[in-house]
Amino acid sequence: INELFEESLRSRHFRVYLQPKVSPRTGEAEGAEALVRWQHPERGVICPSDFIPLFERNGKICRLDVYVFREVCALMAKWERMGKRLIPVSVNLSRQHFREPGFLEEFSGIAKQYRVRTEMLEFELTESIFLDEEQIDVVKDSIHRMHALGFTCSLDDFGSGFSSLGLLKEFDVDALKLDRLFFLDMHSEKARDVIACLMELAKKLNVKTVAEGIEEPEQVEYLRQVNCDMIQGYVYARPMPADAFEEKYVRGIMV
Ligand code: C2E
Ligand code: MG
Ligand code: MG
Repeated sequence: INELFEESLRSRHFRVYLQPKVSPRTGEAEGAEALVRWQHPERGVICPSDFIPLFERNGKICRLDVYVFREVCALMAKWERMGKRLIPVSVNLSRQHFREPGFLEEFSGIAKQYRVRTEMLEFELTESIFLDEEQIDVVKDSIHRMHALGFTCSLDDFGSGFSSLGLLKEFDVDALKLDRLFFLDMHSEKARDVIACLMELAKKLNVKTVAEGIEEPEQVEYLRQVNCDMIQGYVYARPMPADAFEEKYVRGIMV
């Protein structure tokens, strides 16, 4: 599978899909997340859950993340040339990057090479990274460094494990991505109250909120009521190839 990785990277069998983050107020895409797909010549499209854990173990994930980031920069540079209005795009960062001090310089170098403003790029860090005692200082420093370089950063999958509100106090994130688990039992009043409170807390801390995995219109209605900033889920769109995304969601600058 290692050889397959190199070959697939060279042959561009890894594809970047984009999923919009839609404002429930305006119905417009105000951001997007880049999600990798492996377009295997024989096996068809393979989803990340089937190969990311493996690449995390053998360290290949870092190169894949850089590849995805580069593809995103190339896309945004293209949109800029076309005179489009840019929306921020986020990429997922594996915990493996934090083992290498200075990994952010590579990312900022790529953004510079494509002349994409780093303000338009966001790193998603999964909740479990923040809970790793040994990495706390490295992660904190990295977030400062991200901000110094102009990037933004979000706490991904919040609520999927033993989340702690302390994370919001301790780490200077710009956005909170609430895991789909939060929204599965929204008929329960308790569940709704927890969501409403988290939205309020985030607002108070000046952290943007993104609800993940939203599939039902009723969930959207509730999230609109509690002022959730953005919704990412099948209810609006599934992750799609970049050209489809461009056609549907990237608009010209209106004058
Ligand atoms: P994630 O970052 O939390 O991404 C959101 C996942 O939820 C995506 O799964 C997306 O397709 C899925 N999703 C979106 N809307 C809905 C919905 O309404 N219902 C349901 N059931 N699911 C929805 P995907 O694309 O399979 O990716 C899974 C995970 O793999 C990601 O979770 C992320 O942790 C990881 N991943 C994906 N691409 C990359 C990458 O380029 N680098 C790294 N390091 N990890 C990646
Ligand atoms: Mg993510
Ligand atoms: Mg997530």
